[in-house]
This record gives sequence, structure tokens and C-alpha cells, in this order.
Amino acid sequence: MIIHNTSDSIQRALLPFFKKNKSIGFVPTMGALHMGHISLVEKASIENDCVVVSIFVNPTQFNNSQDLEKYPRSFKDDVKILEDLKSNIFVFAPEVSNIYANKIISKKYRFSGLENKMEGKHRKGHFEGVGTVLNILFRIVKPNKAYFGEKDFQQLQVVKKLVEIEKLPVTIFGCSIIREENGLAMSSRNKLLTKIQFNEASLIYKTLSEVQQKFNVYSISKLNNIVKERFKNRNLLKLEYFEIANIKTLKTVKRKRNNNTYRAFIAVFLGKVRLIDNIMLN
Ligand code: AMP
Repeated sequence: MIIHNTSDSIQRALLPFFKKNKSIGFVPTMGALHMGHISLVEKASIENDCVVVSIFVNPTQFNNSQDLEKYPRSFKDDVKILEDLKSNIFVFAPEVSNIYANKIISKKYRFSGLENKMEGKHRKGHFEGVGTVLNILFRIVKPNKAYFGEKDFQQLQVVKKLVEIEKLPVTIFGCSIIREENGLAMSSRNKLLTKIQFNEASLIYKTLSEVQQKFNVYSISKLNNIVKERFKNRNLLKLEYFEIANIKTLKTVKRKRNNNTYRAFIAVFLGKVRLIDNIMLN
């Protein structure tokens, strides 16, 4: 498998696809690949003539330099996993300098307020970083379709808004969350957990499932209290936020309204490892 480390190299490789109007599917990742990523690549591979998988740990979306430093990297294993899929895959793994030249800064974006909620509130500048790198990657790869996981549901909504703002000719697809056997959403960050933390982390999905089951019966404030109660006195788990939000605006909901669709969102710390998850409620 040829790895493309520069925008020139990947564009040269994709030239025949651009010329013949063949469909290019794109799966942007930060590497440390797992079955969640692979599910996106497989879907992209079924729906397109080729798939570009980018592996790029994007510095501008990290608001904490330690988090960036510690982010899991397993490039050789990633390439092996992609090779084993035996699909028409191009790996694009640029250097930071190739994406940002010598200015590692985000473009100023407003995503209709989506950027200020939940992840945006707790990780200042995160979505400006995500928007900046994706805008650059989309303009290099020029995909027809791009695939994102609902695991990062807020990001998925932000990306759809980015495509509108930047008028990019790409269709965005959201894909279901892939989970471990204990229910924990797969994440590159799970590699940073100890066995005990990994087991404890199953409480995240267990609690989300409980909220989903009780959604029609209990009020929002009662559900919020149930979640707080579940995470109270847990030595290894620290709840950062739990919110029930409207899926379009991502605004926190205090009272359910007919004809609105809601999801529950959660962020939890296990030591220094921060995990997020979400679930559809109605
Ligand atoms: P990341 O490498 O964490 O930036 O993720 C790259 C893409 O994979 C994003 O669109 C994520 O939402 C998606 N993804 C990550 N984990 C999962 C999962 N467990 N299930 C489905 N998609 C996922």
C-alpha cells in the first residue's frame, strides 16, 4: 500500500478518478484505528470507486497540549489493518507542515451556535480546529462523499454546517456507533485505559441505555438526576457533563416537546482519559 504524505502526492494518485468522474469516498481519522473507523471505511468502499483514509492528528482541535502529546498513535498497525481490507484504499498521512505550512492556527468559524455547546463549551476552539482541518482536507481530496461516526454526533452536525458555509461539493454521511462487548463506544482513547478503567467505563453506555428506556416515562430533570446519581461516589469515573439536547440545534432541553427529536450526550473522565458518547432517545 502506497502512503501519500503530501497533498501533491495524493492528488496525483487521485487524478484518474477526478478525470473520469469516478466517485471518491473520504474517511478522515486521527489514526489508532479500530472497528469504528473500519465500519466507515467499509461503507465508503461499498458506495464509491475508491476510498481515501486520512490519518492526521490535528493539532488545532486540541485545547490541551498534554492531550495532544498523549494521543495514541499506531501508524504501522493502522496501515496493516487498511491493507487487510483489500479495498481500493488510498492512505493520506500528511505532516503538520504540509497541512498548515508554518501557521498552525484555526480559521474563525461560526457554526450557528453548534460550536458553543457541550464539546465546544468544554474544549474551547475545538470545532474551529475541526472545521479548519476538514476544510483543508476536503479541498485536497475533493471527495464526492465523506463518512463520519455518530460517536461524535456534535462533530457530524458541525461538519454538515461547514460544508454549507464553505459551499463544498461533498455529501456527508453519518454512521452508527460501534461498541465494545461491554457497551463502551469504541474510541482510540480506549487504548489509554487500564483493564479496570475499561470495565468501569461500561457504566457510560449502561446509563445512556437506562435514560433511553426511561425517556418516555420520566421528565428531563428526573433523568438528569438519575444520571448524576449513577456517577455519584464512583472513584474511577468523573462525570463532566450529561445533557439531553435537540438533535438539530443541540440546545439543552428542559422540557420535552412533541415532534422534536432528542439525543442524550455525555462526557466522562477516567483519570486523565476523557470519553464521550451519545444515544438516540426518540
Ligand atoms: P477520530 O479518529 O477519533 O477522529 O475518528 C474518525 C472518525 O471515526 C470520526 O468520524 C468518528 O466519529 C468515527 N468514529 C470514532 N469512533 C467510532 C465508533 N465507535 N463508531 C463509529 N464511528 C466512530
